[in-house]
Amino acid sequence: MRLLEYEAKQLLAAHGAQIPAGQLFTQDLNEPILSLPFVMKVQIPIGGRGKAGGVRPVYTDSEFRETAKELLSNPLLGYRVNTLLAEEMLEIKQELYLAITVDRPSRSLVILAHTEGGIDIEEAVRQSAPHKIPLQNEPDESTTQQLLEYTGLTENMRGPVDHLLHALWATCVQEDALLVEINPLIVTATDQLYCADAKIELDDNAAFRHNWNFEQNPTGSQFVILNEQGTVGSMANGAGLAMATVDAIQQAGAQAANFLDVGGGTNARGMADAFERLSQLPRIKAIVINIFGGITRCDEVAEAILMAQSSVTNLPQLYIRLTGTNEAKGKEILERAGIATLPDLQSCVTAATQGTM
Ligand code: GDP
Ligand code: MN
Repeated sequence: MRLLEYEAKQLLAAHGAQIPAGQLFTQDLNEPILSLPFVMKVQIPIGGRGKAGGVRPVYTDSEFRETAKELLSNPLLGYRVNTLLAEEMLEIKQELYLAITVDRPSRSLVILAHTEGGIDIEEAVRQSAPHKIPLQNEPDESTTQQLLEYTGLTENMRGPVDHLLHALWATCVQEDALLVEINPLIVTATDQLYCADAKIELDDNAAFRHNWNFEQNPTGSQFVILNEQGTVGSMANGAGLAMATVDAIQQAGAQAANFLDVGGGTNARGMADAFERLSQLPRIKAIVINIFGGITRCDEVAEAILMAQSSVTNLPQLYIRLTGTNEAKGKEILERAGIATLPDLQSCVTAATQGTM
């Protein structure tokens, strides 16, 4: 499960990492307490917000209102924006990349660091590989030493770096994270270290140990926008079936808008989120739903479809193939609600693409 930036920062702060002062804003746009100027950032579970216009400096109160309204009323990178994080503006001297993640071959954690952090990290990594420091145990003086040597950070940063490494490590181990990534880690003009952005991926298998209550519930679903202008959306369970569904739509001559694998053991909330995202695609006119119930039960899928229909506005016409575990029960639930199913994928695709090209 991928956390939103503000959720990740709350966890990091609880483990002692230094994060910028901040305030959250939602649709009702409460009054700012944070003093201007600040940076406003859309809270969506994906990187690249900076380049896509989702990180904005604001200097005045009217700028704050305009920017907030604009950011909250447009989807970004395919995600509806519900929350904005405003943060004190930092005076940046240097942007670093620092992460702790699981290194499967060595069955341990590893620190990844790069001196060229920030929005061009992919390019920086192509130029030179990130520096790796294996972590068999808690970070110690030698870990800090290695990081200082690699980054060229000066002696006065030893204490703060040591403190941060412990905070990252504690977050990773105690929260059962697979990845804790700070990009950028900012060194300010006054040599303070701030986690200016944070990405945390929690291990869903450890959910039973925690009381997780985050904005993004674990759904195990994978949603990828293929074509913003696509007219036919799709939803399937299992990556193979989802790819086959996209292919069938393209082969019928229509433009597939997205790839969506809702995963096994589909939960209603996750599917409702998926429908919500599909309904945001500007040109979508039909959705093909291709479910083969194995672990996923058709009756649960049917309930989720009903829930989505009642909660999502502007939902386009659905063309549904539903087969496998509890098929009869699932179809009955849909029929009672006046929703028809079709016998196979091809009939769904044919019906969905008619009138959408
Ligand atoms: P991402 O593009 O989704 O990774 O979003 P980030 O939170 O990493 O922000 C992108 C970029 O915005 C950062 O690399 C910084 O250069 C810049 N940025 C973020 N916060 C601040 C800030 O407080 N002050 C200034 N001046 N720039 C910031
Ligand atoms: Mn970032």
